[in-house]
Amino acid sequence: MGAEFTTGKLACLFTGSIWAEGPLWVPSSRTVRWSDIPNDRILEFDPATGTTGEYALGVEFTNGRTLGSDGSVIQCSHGRRRVERDSGGAVTGLVDSFQGSRLNSPNDVVVARDASIWFTDPPYGILPGTKEGHEGEQEYGGCYVFRLEPASETLTAVITDLVYPNGLAFSPDESILYVADTAGPGHGVPLRVVSYEVRGGICRRSGTILELEEGHPADGLRVDVQGRIWTSAGPAVRIYSPSFELLEIIAVPETVSNLCFGGPDGQDLYITATTSLYRIRTTTRDARAAARP
Ligand code: MG
Repeated sequence: MGAEFTTGKLACLFTGSIWAEGPLWVPSSRTVRWSDIPNDRILEFDPATGTTGEYALGVEFTNGRTLGSDGSVIQCSHGRRRVERDSGGAVTGLVDSFQGSRLNSPNDVVVARDASIWFTDPPYGILPGTKEGHEGEQEYGGCYVFRLEPASETLTAVITDLVYPNGLAFSPDESILYVADTAGPGHGVPLRVVSYEVRGGICRRSGTILELEEGHPADGLRVDVQGRIWTSAGPAVRIYSPSFELLEIIAVPETVSNLCFGGPDGQDLYITATTSLYRIRTTTRDARAAARP
């Protein structure tokens, strides 16, 4: 292992959240936007000034977000149990139910090149005693990965064999979808990242599974232009080859929830980790940013 994927040191940019999640580089404002879920607010870091401010308060516990094909921000809301769009601060719902039952608490989301919206739906925002949403029932009886076709508003359950699907990311050519499952041994499965072959909107398990040790769950993850997987893994970001060979570990002082590539050239890695936002310079970019500059 060598430091060929990152340069320089990890820098802490902000501290003061309870559980930071869902980072996204927003090209239109040249800022990093992320969720402080228990504090029910969205924060924004401006690298030009080095300052962090509150983008929005009382946001119904947003979690993961991604860039929509029109440049708007697509985000998950635990409290509203839906996936929604933020267009310059105007928030509208995209989907909140499956076959007549409410979603659990959408957690993380990606948009494919065909503009379809793929998201995970574990129950973290409705569990008893949750501080990340409102207690409620799992109405459709599972925790699925969904694909929303925005033009027809058709919602399809594309993955139904994970326990608590969480972070997700496509390979550069979108032939593989990687999905983290954060349920863990307490639910009879290992902490893991599972890869699925994707064809025509259908997902089939590829047979490749990354198992992580206890205390090191993969929550949010991203894929770079070379197809490598950059995943949260406890107090670290780990970089894996497409076949899950461990390439590098970036130690982080706090438990990492999620990450995103960003910055003016897309080569800065922003990391949300418990109370803080961190950044480290890399030698690569997000697969999706490269596909759609
Ligand atoms: Mg997550």
